Amino acid sequence: MSNPAVTVIGLGEMGRALADALITAGHRTTVWNRSASKADDLVARGAVRARTVEEAVLASPLILVCLLDHDVSDAVLRPVADALRGRTLVNLTNGTPAQARTAEAWATGHGVAYLDGGIMAIPSTVATPQAFVLYSGQQEHFDAHRQTFEALGAAKYLGADAGIAALYDLALLSAMDLMFDGFFHSVAMATSHEEGSAAGFTELLVPWLTNMAQVLPAFAADVDSDAEPVVVQGLDVVLAGARNMAQASRDAGVRADYFDHSAAALEKQLAEGLSTYTAPEAVRRLRTAS
Ligand code: NAP
Repeated sequence: MSNPAVTVIGLGEMGRALADALITAGHRTTVWNRSASKADDLVARGAVRARTVEEAVLASPLILVCLLDHDVSDAVLRPVADALRGRTLVNLTNGTPAQARTAEAWATGHGVAYLDGGIMAIPSTVATPQAFVLYSGQQEHFDAHRQTFEALGAAKYLGADAGIAALYDLALLSAMDLMFDGFFHSVAMATSHEEGSAAGFTELLVPWLTNMAQVLPAFAADVDSDAEPVVVQGLDVVLAGARNMAQASRDAGVRADYFDHSAAALEKQLAEGLSTYTAPEAVRRLRTAS
């Protein structure tokens, strides 16, 4: 037990996985949860059960928080500001960049070192090579506890702006959610056929998406560059595809809203005189769509 003491506040599915990883890594781990019984298994594995949030905070120099949302973390932490003074608070609760910056300002005002974080894992992958956790805030706070953070998954420091971990976390989740929505849409289409099964179709979809993901770095290079984009498709070809996907969806009894919207946006671009479909243009269109 030579590793630094850590407190985990919030023992939902994710908080329990974090505390478990810290116990495994040899940290004296103090835990608190509103429903105290969720600590039972962890206590059996060596965790210390705190009876109050204040007791939990006072037990360790490093406090990890993993609660439902920032409203809950504010409600739990603000009454114990005095106990937090001089300690490091890492809020791994999912939230927006603005919430992270507000939390940092509050913490700094109370003499608390603050980092915000985003957990890119599910409970079963915490502390495995698949897991990584994003952190942002003052680098000295990150450097001071980096070794402890590595027990949860690869620790990735993104910068001094406390909001950037939340921004990247939500951007990564947005890509995941849109991929899942795309999956559900494609399965609805494929299984509209009497011979279609979701499992059979997915055997084709996974390698297809895996191959297409390989294009993303080339798209990204085009977005970052001021030079002419390298990955270019004809706008008319992309539009014809969008119209076909909309029509085939409708014919299969599946909603076509996404592709109708997409086709309308591409038609507008063609009318504006554009002839190519590129990643920088696709990103620009989203930026100005709000
Ligand atoms: P969860 O299992 O629903 O746990 C929610 C936690 O918040 C519990 O500790 C719960 O306490 C607590 N809580 C809720 N309302 C409260 C209140 N009013 N006062 C005090 N405590 C309250 O959720 P989770 O999956 O652990 O998620 C926790 C955070 O991790 C979220 O921000 C989530 O986005 C993030 N995350 C989760 C995953 C995942 O795969 N699960 C992945 C990445 C990030 P009780 O036990 O007393 O209800």
